[in-house]
Amino acid sequence: MSRASNGSFPFVGHYRCLDFVNTALVAPQGRTDPIQDFSALVSWLHEAGLIDAVERRVALARWGKGREAQQTYGAALLFRLRMAEIAERLAARKQVSKAGLDAINEQLQGLAARARVTRGKSGFVERLETDLTEPRQLIVPLAQSAADLLCHGDLSSVKRCANRSCSLYFYDTSKNHTRRWCSMERCGSRMKMAAYYQRRRLRREGR
Ligand SMILES: [Zn+2]
Repeated sequence: MSRASNGSFPFVGHYRCLDFVNTALVAPQGRTDPIQDFSALVSWLHEAGLIDAVERRVALARWGKGREAQQTYGAALLFRLRMAEIAERLAARKQVSKAGLDAINEQLQGLAARARVTRGKSGFVERLETDLTEPRQLIVPLAQSAADLLCHGDLSSVKRCANRSCSLYFYDTSKNHTRRWCSMERCGSRMKMAAYYQRRRLRREGR
């Protein structure tokens, strides 16, 4: 699991579009959305590695708290909702709806970016650079991630964490394709421990 520098959001999805869906699932019940405004959205995009520090500064300086920022924030949350439906359908091995595809394509229309290959820690990484002339372009990398997942990913690898109090989405990259938890650190160890004590209790009770 890769974790952001300040560790406030889990990055277990493998695809950033799934990580974005997960941001809606990490808030305790009844609490406010962890991405509570445009500035939090920009911070998350930076934490997710989708924009660099300069782009983050530019986005906040250019649009800050203006009306465009509000609209972009609203559009991002709507996109997250559509993406959550897509993730839910994929995890249930169902077809992605037309509305889901439309939502991705709508965002991809804002694509005014150049692809750039850079050397990453574990191989080459293709990254999109935008001029950021309008705030909606900030959502484009998320739509790109969704397109990447649908076109090049193994859709049967989209799963939900087996810990029901977690339920984060993740993309199973394990060799034998049997991963059940969003991550070992977050849920795997805890669930394995619980199962161990459960087995011990049953044995003790002679069941
Ligand atoms: Zn989990």
